[in-house]
Amino acid sequence: MASYRAPLADIQFLLGEVFKADEIFAGMAETEEVTADLMTAILEEAGKISEGLLAPINQSGDQTGCVWNDGVVTTPDGFREAYQAYAEGGWAGLTGNVDFGGQGMPKLLSAQIEEMFFSANSSFALYAILNTGATLTISEHASEELKSRYLPKMYEGGWSGTMCLTEPHAGTDLGMIRTKAVPRDDGSYSLTGTKIFITAGEHDLTENIIHLVLAKLPDAPPGPKGISLFLVPKFLVDTDSNLTGERNNVTCGSIEHKMGIKASATCVMNFEEAQGWLVGELNNGLANMFTMMNYERLSMGLQANGLAESSYQTASEYARERIQGRAPGGATNPDKAADPILVHPDVRRMLLTMRANIMAGRALSMYAALQLDTARFHADDAVRKKAQQLVALLIPVQKAYCSDRGFEACVLGQQVLGGHGYVAEWGLEQNVRDARIAQIYEGANGIQALDLMGRKTIRCNGELLNVLVQEIEEFQAQQRDVAAMEPILPYLEQSKQRIIATTEQIIQQAEDDADEVGAASYPYMELLGLTLYCFMWQRIVATAFEQQAAGAGNAVQLAGLIKTGTYFFSRMLPKGEALAAEIAAGAEPLMAIAEAEF
Ligand SMILES: Cc1cc2nc3c(=O)[nH]c(=O)nc-3n(C[C@H](O)[C@H](O)[C@H](O)COP(=O)(O)OP(=O)(O)OC[C@H]3O[C@@H](n4cnc5c(N)ncnc54)[C@H](O)[C@@H]3O)c2cc1C
Repeated sequence: MASYRAPLADIQFLLGEVFKADEIFAGMAETEEVTADLMTAILEEAGKISEGLLAPINQSGDQTGCVWNDGVVTTPDGFREAYQAYAEGGWAGLTGNVDFGGQGMPKLLSAQIEEMFFSANSSFALYAILNTGATLTISEHASEELKSRYLPKMYEGGWSGTMCLTEPHAGTDLGMIRTKAVPRDDGSYSLTGTKIFITAGEHDLTENIIHLVLAKLPDAPPGPKGISLFLVPKFLVDTDSNLTGERNNVTCGSIEHKMGIKASATCVMNFEEAQGWLVGELNNGLANMFTMMNYERLSMGLQANGLAESSYQTASEYARERIQGRAPGGATNPDKAADPILVHPDVRRMLLTMRANIMAGRALSMYAALQLDTARFHADDAVRKKAQQLVALLIPVQKAYCSDRGFEACVLGQQVLGGHGYVAEWGLEQNVRDARIAQIYEGANGIQALDLMGRKTIRCNGELLNVLVQEIEEFQAQQRDVAAMEPILPYLEQSKQRIIATTEQIIQQAEDDADEVGAASYPYMELLGLTLYCFMWQRIVATAFEQQAAGAGNAVQLAGLIKTGTYFFSRMLPKGEALAAEIAAGAEPLMAIAEAEF
């Protein structure tokens, strides 16, 4: 099995050269200390942890999985020690609120670390990101008292967090949840109900687990507007953040046996008059939870992309070494019985498709993370507003498109290895199994597409897309006179025109037929994803040309990027035409078939 190597050169190229993160951070008071040197040091350290601490327990963790016994969940060998090292390294508080012991690092940086952790060991990474998401929600919405009582320990990594939304009958449609919260005399609440599929709901990595739970008061309005958010600790905590020794009435009924991420505990959690504290305002729980969900959704795109990177590393190395068949144009390796499979155009197609999608997915994730940071830290209201609009548009696409393309890349990696990709030894079948969930949880990809099409496009009459179009046009204006970009820029112009025309067409179609929204949503998400990948590749190639012209950078890396970008424009981007045609076909062919005819 090939070992994972943190792709620091590609990450640094995007972060430093394409996005010029250090300049952006220097312009915001809360991030001005995040210099290029600091980022490099943190990324290198995260790379070492990924390679040396997390990757070595990935395959064994998959084989052992988590074990449930009478409410107690045991993680695989090595996970406890790795989590302790992670906590001691200060990683749990990396993006945390500095007033409560966090380090205040921006998401643009931490997203790269998440990608590496997901590549190396997705199950482990899930414990980490759930805690980060929970702390963010507490930091944004909880009272000062709750913040000071819980955040420092969660940032230290001694306690971890969860997100308890799903119930057996309520997944996508959270308005139907039944978990009840009844007010107690002391201002806290008694929570009763069952949550399922709760990641890290119970485990042995930390001494306490802090659940963020969606529930309804008995007299709450029906549907999503009656949902409130509560903090429910596994062990009760006094005002000085010490454990009182008293166990709260929240228990783990069982864990799921599932396709992948086997070392991540997916728990049934039973709340029986468990004591909880309100986070944010009553009946505004779903909106408050969305603080966390925008960050978590970004993480799911990163998960599949990270696993794709790990598969690509193994597959590209394998393709250089495995010899089968002869190159169509004559032997490249006449002294041996066959040539390396890398000579075959179809193997190159698979590797280049993987590489093109991974790099664009990483860039899109950075672009979305940058908007999250700008929306949070920038001093100028107008800049913040624009970033918020881009967050709203980009997050559902990043979540769905990166996880779809990431999963697909994992399958391609398996294919490059032939039968050796199907057996466990090389780890590629594990990557396929581990990546698959990213398309499902945090809102299935079909729901992300609906969110994009309905709320984020039709309901605002394409206003959010216009913000993205402005960004694209600014880039086009900057590149207009660059000779090397002359043959490249038309691809972007064509993609931009296609998404604008398709958006207008759907907005019109939806006026006459409500099913048009749902019918167009998935191919529209894919078309916008493809357009964004095109935008990202244009930025990557333009930067590579700039560096080449200046005699800067690594010549092999730059040439490889320009050629991969060219592959994307000429062989992958044409899929946009098929997607536009699919959308134009409308809802009729989908809705014509009667239930009995399925
Ligand atoms: C391993 C794992 C870990 C998880 N971790 C957590 C966690 O930590 N916390 C938590 O709260 N939950 C968690 N979940 C739950 C996960 O978020 C849900 O499974 C997911 O949101 C989908 O809900 P569902 O499974 O009930 O599917 P359903 O809601 O029943 O949907 C089934 C299908 O119908 C489609 N569909 C549903 N409604 C519509 C609609 N209106 N329009 C079009 N299509 C629709 C969906 O896209 C999907 O394809 C986890 C799940 C798994 C498997």
